[in-house]
Amino acid sequence: MKWQGVLHKYFDYLPLEDRDNIVSLTEGNTPLIRAKNVEDVLEDDLEVYLKFEGANPTGSFKDRGMTVAVSKAVENGDRAVICASTGNTSASAAAFAAKSGLEAIVLIPEGKIAFGKLSQAMMHGANVIQVEGNFDEALELVLELSDNYPVTLVNSLNPNRIEGQKTASFEVSDFLGDAPDYHMLPVGNAGNITAYWKGYKEYYDSGVTSKLPKMTGFQAAGAAPIVDGARVENPETVATAIRIGNPASWEKAENARDESGGLIDKASDEELIEAYKVLAGKEGVFCEPASAASVAGLLKLDGTGYFEDGSTVTCTLTGHGLKDPDIAIESSEQPETVGANVDEVLGVAGL
Ligand SMILES: *Cc1c(COP(=O)(O)O)cnc(C)c1O
Repeated sequence: MKWQGVLHKYFDYLPLEDRDNIVSLTEGNTPLIRAKNVEDVLEDDLEVYLKFEGANPTGSFKDRGMTVAVSKAVENGDRAVICASTGNTSASAAAFAAKSGLEAIVLIPEGKIAFGKLSQAMMHGANVIQVEGNFDEALELVLELSDNYPVTLVNSLNPNRIEGQKTASFEVSDFLGDAPDYHMLPVGNAGNITAYWKGYKEYYDSGVTSKLPKMTGFQAAGAAPIVDGARVENPETVATAIRIGNPASWEKAENARDESGGLIDKASDEELIEAYKVLAGKEGVFCEPASAASVAGLLKLDGTGYFEDGSTVTCTLTGHGLKDPDIAIESSEQPETVGANVDEVLGVAGL
C-alpha cells in the first residue's frame, strides 16, 4: 500500500480516535542505510545502520511526534499550539499547524538556532518569538502559558509526541526483521530515547520482535546533565539541537538506559564534528551536528568491549545537514577561486 504517514501505518499503536482527524505530511518511512564504510574503520565486528531522519518532510524526526500531537489537537477542537524549541520542533510545529489551520506560537532562544530551522518556522507562518534566554528558560515559559491560556503544548512533554516518535523503532524493526542489538541516538531533552524505548518494548510485548536493544544515548559534553548528574545552567555546544541543560524526560531516559542495560555518555564538540564529517565524507549522508552524536558515540565505544562482536547497531541521525549550513561550511575545506579557463581549473583540479 502507498505510504500515507506514521498515523495511517501504525494507527493501532497510536492514541488517535478517528482517522479523519489525521494531519499528515506523509512523514516517516525514512531510509535505513547500511554504513559499510563506517563498519570498515571499526575495530569491533558490527553491522551498522543509519536511520536517516533528515528525510522527513521538515528535515527531522520531530515530524513523527508532531503529526500525532497536531492531529490530536484537531481531534480535541484546539485552536493553537505552542512550543519552545532549539529549532526543529518549531519548524515541524509550524508546518503541521499550517497544514491543519491551527495557529502556532514558537519560542526560540535568541541567536541560538540554526538558520535553516528559523527560516522554516517563519515561512510556515508561525508566530516566532525570540526569547533572551536559553532553551530551558523558553520551555519554562511555554509550560506556564499552556497551563493558563487556551493553547496546547507540543513539546515532547506532550505524550502524543512520544507516541508518534516511537514509530521510528517500529520501522527499524520492520526493516531488519527484528530489533537491533544496540540503538544509539543523540540525547537533548531526552524525548526521543524515551520514545524509541517505548516503541521497542511495545513491539517486543506484542511478539513482533524477539529481543530488545541496549539503548545507548550521547549528549554533547557541554550539555551533559544526565551524564554529569547535575543540571547545566549555561549549556554550550556546537550542536544547537541538543544544547539543553535540564532535560524534560531526564528520568525516563535513565529508565530506558537502565532497563535496557545500555548507557548514556557524552562526546566533545570535536568528536561530534569528526563523526559529522565521516558521515558526509564516507557515507554520503549529510546530517546536522547534533545528529552525529549517535555515530560519535559508536566511534567512541568501539574497541572498549561495550559492543559484542556480530551485533547489529542502529544509529539515529535525527536531522538534515542542510538545517545548519554555516557549520558545514565552517568545518569544510574552502573552495579555491580561479579564472574561467581550463589551465587555471587544471591547476587546482588535481587531474
Ligand atoms: C530535537 C533534536 C534532538 C534531541 O532530541 P530529544 O528528544 O530532545 O533528546 C537531537 N537532534 C536533533 C536534530 C533534534 O532536532
